[in-house]
Amino acid sequence: MISKIPERIGRLDELANNLWWSWHHDARNLFATLDYPLWRASSQNPVKQLREMTPDKLLSASRDRTILALYDSAIAAFDADVSVRDCWFAEKYAGRFSGPVAFFSAEFALHKSLPIYAGGLGVLAGDICKEACDLGLPLIGIGFMYPQGYFRQRISADGWQEEIYEYLNFEEAPISPCAWPEGCGPLVEVRLAGRLVHIAVWEVRLGRVRLYLLDTNVEENAPGDRQLSARLYTADREHRMQQEIVLGIGGVRVLRALGMEPCVWHANEGHTAFMMLERLREEVAAGSSFEEGMARTQASSVFTTHTPVPAGHDIFPVELIDRYFNDYWGLLGTDRRTFLQLGQADVSGASFNMTALGLRLARQRCGVSALHGRVTRRMWHSLWPGVKEEKVPISHVTNGVHVPTWIAPELYQLCEKHLGANLMRECDDEHIWDSIVDIPDAAIWAVRRSLKRRLIRVILDKAQQRWVDRSVTGEQIVAFGALLDPDKLTIGFARRFAEYKRPALIFRDLERLKKIVGDRWRPVQIIFAGKSHPADFPSKHLLQQAFNMARNRDFLGRIAFVEDYDMLLSRYLVQGVDVWLNVPRRLQEACGTSGMKASLNGVPHFSVRDGWWHEGYHGRHGWAIGEETVDLAKEDETDAAALYQCLEEKIVPLYYRRDRSGVPQEWIQVVKNAIRSAATAFSARRMLKEYTERLYLPAAELRKTHQP
Ligand SMILES: *Cc1c(COP(=O)(O)O)cnc(C)c1O
Repeated sequence: MISKIPERIGRLDELANNLWWSWHHDARNLFATLDYPLWRASSQNPVKQLREMTPDKLLSASRDRTILALYDSAIAAFDADVSVRDCWFAEKYAGRFSGPVAFFSAEFALHKSLPIYAGGLGVLAGDICKEACDLGLPLIGIGFMYPQGYFRQRISADGWQEEIYEYLNFEEAPISPCAWPEGCGPLVEVRLAGRLVHIAVWEVRLGRVRLYLLDTNVEENAPGDRQLSARLYTADREHRMQQEIVLGIGGVRVLRALGMEPCVWHANEGHTAFMMLERLREEVAAGSSFEEGMARTQASSVFTTHTPVPAGHDIFPVELIDRYFNDYWGLLGTDRRTFLQLGQADVSGASFNMTALGLRLARQRCGVSALHGRVTRRMWHSLWPGVKEEKVPISHVTNGVHVPTWIAPELYQLCEKHLGANLMRECDDEHIWDSIVDIPDAAIWAVRRSLKRRLIRVILDKAQQRWVDRSVTGEQIVAFGALLDPDKLTIGFARRFAEYKRPALIFRDLERLKKIVGDRWRPVQIIFAGKSHPADFPSKHLLQQAFNMARNRDFLGRIAFVEDYDMLLSRYLVQGVDVWLNVPRRLQEACGTSGMKASLNGVPHFSVRDGWWHEGYHGRHGWAIGEETVDLAKEDETDAAALYQCLEEKIVPLYYRRDRSGVPQEWIQVVKNAIRSAATAFSARRMLKEYTERLYLPAAELRKTHQP
């Protein structure tokens, strides 16, 4: 609570502590206008900003007409949104759900100020929560409060990634201690190999949606247990198992302690699948047999798998299961052998596979793109031996991105002006986009140019900051992007640096690449960003390779590597570059979402036809690299050649073909098609409607038929 805020703007604190502000333009604008230097210095974190604003400054804000107008309109929109209203869910489905949807995920990416995510999985979870708020779907998120989060990235002069772990200052984060009902809380308990671990709970507000974050850093716990929730994705298996028990089993207990009775339970990826075991335990404790309990748990459970490659699944050795669950399977009314079978993925039975567990304990199961659905049915065919592969009961819901979070406000306002004020509400409706053809090409071009200038400004700021902060070399500053130029065709490549994403593919033929970027009349520049997992050395070498190219004089400063990729930088990048590059090995990218964010901003996707691009590509809103299937032994070679050829023959000429007023008209047609396609087919709105209608509703109904 901040006491110094004058009454006239007294609800600023409430607004700052509800992340609703982050995807509503008036509210964002309010905080940006309130104190612009602090807004920037806090990396757009209003909680921190309000703490640091002086009483004088707040007082004068409370008398500033511009600020008051923004404040009043933001508060009015907030109140209208948070109160019960005529939202999609209330109109169509409210009566058919007896309780909320509980959504479990190991990471959530909501805002830079809450660094509890590593990549795409977290962004998806965050976008689902925000969309649930917009659609009025009653959803409760359950996750982990990692005080050290994922790390911050620094790149040394020779291109090696250094990880910095900083303790989050909880006072400056948009979280508050959970508000427990009378007589409950504040701690929930789970057992870990015989000892008791206490869990505290933090609450994050997103409009009406609540997210509960579990935290083991409490005095009651032993020092080792206090560290349990410190960091995301540690490499140690035992530590991971403990985290997943806290999240899955502890998460269910937290909801119970809060008096909640969800009617659908959604496990987002295998990390959270222990949640289903705990509900099975509850059923057995209430008198069911193991079999009845299983049937009831399955009925109301939804499981999404995100991993298309066997190595990506979360797997525990049986010894660990023995250590942590030998006092648990008895509570399920079963024995060790049956329990181990729940997580068995192959005949050897040597390990316990969390994806197998999720698939067995949920009746509604899905992958995250059409192609990934197919790959998943093949990969898990052995769980349904008598069934034909295409009949394996795993469907798919293609991921989507939260439009208000990711679209640039300038671009959105331009579209709204031409397509109508209902655009945001109906952005997933094909027809509302019909008149995008009427938006003047020059107007779109002007917005695109200003977004690129803003991105480069941000990159220069970061580079200058580094120059001021510490001794870095001139070469490093060039590598960080000091020579970028807003008039050049700019390619973006930003994502986790994982080997399968082939970040170095574009360096396969350096002579050819030099010709492309160094072209005198039609130059090209490439911006890289992304983190390597701290324990992933091959990936760190790939990152070093990209960084070394960026500081290589032969490239004339036309390759840049921007440090510390996170949600905020991602937002600038997907809005600001001209083309979004994506080159995963085939069948290894489950979906991918950064390309959707880029397309939404009129940055066409230039990608191998894997993940969402397999269903998304239709030739008029981006480019495909290589054929759908290639000889896998030569995949790198053929894809690199196809990538260069497409750049040389299609992308570069199209971008630089201008009309008399300097507008690349044909390019703008691709831009318009990209925006329309992403906003309709690849929005979180389309995705969450699909989840609701195809998975949540059947689960809610099945649950009723399984009531005792
Ligand atoms: C969107 C996003 C991702 C996911 O990108 P992919 O290309 O799908 O891997 C990862 N990290 C951040 C910060 C993002 O915003």
